Amino acid sequence: MVSPALPSGNASTESVSLTRIDSSALKALKQDIKGSVVLPDAAHYDELRRPWLEVLEQHPAMIVEADCAEDVVASVNFARDHGLSLGVMATGHGIAAPCNGLLLRFTKMNGIVVDTARNVATIGPGVVSSELLKATERHGLVYPAGQAGNVGVVGYALGGGIGWLVRKLGAAVDYLVGADTVLADGSIVRADDAAHPDLFWALRGGGGNFGVVVSLDIALTPLKNVFGGELYYPLERAAELLRFYRTWSSQLSNETSTIFRVVAVPPAPTSPKELRGKTVCMIGLAHADPATADTVLAPLDQLGAPLYHDMKKRSIASMAALDPASHMKNAPAYGQVEYLNALSDDVLDGLAGLAHTKIPPLTQFEIQQLGGALLNKSFEGRGAFEPSSSSYLLHLESPAVKASLTEIAGATTEAFAALGDVYTGEKYYNFLRGDEQPKVERAFGNTKFARLQQIKAQYDPNNLFHLNLNIAPANA
Ligand SMILES: Cc1cc2nc3c(=O)[nH]c(=O)nc-3n(C[C@H](O)[C@H](O)[C@H](O)COP(=O)(O)OP(=O)(O)OC[C@H]3O[C@@H](n4cnc5c(N)ncnc54)[C@H](O)[C@@H]3O)c2cc1C
Repeated sequence: MVSPALPSGNASTESVSLTRIDSSALKALKQDIKGSVVLPDAAHYDELRRPWLEVLEQHPAMIVEADCAEDVVASVNFARDHGLSLGVMATGHGIAAPCNGLLLRFTKMNGIVVDTARNVATIGPGVVSSELLKATERHGLVYPAGQAGNVGVVGYALGGGIGWLVRKLGAAVDYLVGADTVLADGSIVRADDAAHPDLFWALRGGGGNFGVVVSLDIALTPLKNVFGGELYYPLERAAELLRFYRTWSSQLSNETSTIFRVVAVPPAPTSPKELRGKTVCMIGLAHADPATADTVLAPLDQLGAPLYHDMKKRSIASMAALDPASHMKNAPAYGQVEYLNALSDDVLDGLAGLAHTKIPPLTQFEIQQLGGALLNKSFEGRGAFEPSSSSYLLHLESPAVKASLTEIAGATTEAFAALGDVYTGEKYYNFLRGDEQPKVERAFGNTKFARLQQIKAQYDPNNLFHLNLNIAPANA
């Protein structure tokens, strides 16, 4: 799936000129940095400044391609001391505001160490999901990866992290063991259950608001393969399929995570030939116990032969490769995500209607099944992340469409409103757009949000880390 973003209300509008910065200071920074300081006239500046989610333009005064934690420290100190806004971008899948000051990139910090004695992976901030899965799956281990392979693991996990194993394992944030973090004052601290437990609590759900994570430890779970993939059916059967999906999905155990999608399949070589350019319905699933897959699949037989299917025993990396977004280098995507109260008749009828009338410009909608281990009591109190008790999350999305973002935004808002009062009103931090800044509190609830603001005031009182879905310091 594609998560959305648009420029936020806290977007920096400053236009920074390097002439404002003492040339000897810049020279000293270049000498300090083991990686590279990339200025606007450099050949690869454009590639480095572009976020994956191409919904905003940013023209940083400088980009630091950090090579190590010390480079991150030097960059944080430089930005703070020279009054430059500081952007932190691994991939740009979650960009919420443009950076016109100093943009930190981690293209060179993509180390992965898998400790098979402890079942823990230690990763750098530049690692993307497919890389981590590749490294862990060769040991028969996984982390709760998201649906797309090209999302940055650190940004994903700090914001929650729900994907193909959500009902089996819960959220990625529940598997964090510790994070080496560069704070706003330039110090590097370890945050875990023993050291800076308050910071560790805030990092687990509060995103990049508290510092720059330069090394993250994630607990891994033994799981070699799932049985999973996608089954495609004609668009005309949307109403019937949605009702089937409601009954079938509600009877599944926590071993199975599912989605229902209506999607305009891109006419791309990575799409199945039979489906290219068509709008179709899709049921997707990942069943964590391949030996019992028959029990999950048997009810699907009553639907008859699908137009196309790709169901097999496969790795989670292979599940991620099914997502068209995994194969896009950049996308001007727009979307909105809401938790549903229930898959009521009204919701299903509304979505069936939407399938026929509103796509495009909305090129897809998706129902993602939640519940299961996401609500595991043993994860309670471990972090700021607040899972919803809703059983289904609704995404309306327009990845890489030709219509303008304004047109799509209008169509999306209209489509959500048309379904009526069917949402819980909660928000999921990872799926907030930059222009949904006022809704950040709803991702945590009042009590957790107040605590996050207190911790922010302690670790980043001047809100240096503000080019994100921002949690302002208490009493700011
Ligand atoms: C195509 C697509 C698919 C997605 N699929 C899923 C999914 O299945 N499940 C899900 O839960 N989410 C999903 N998301 C949402 C995604 O998890 C968030 O957008 C996440 O923030 C992306 O992190 P990133 O590092 O890749 O992006 P970036 O835009 O580089 O980073 C986003 C923010 O994360 C923070 N951040 C990144 N790296 C660091 C760091 N080292 N230290 C501190 N802060 C940091 C910063 O605040 C930064 O602004 C998806 C998004 C897209 C576009």
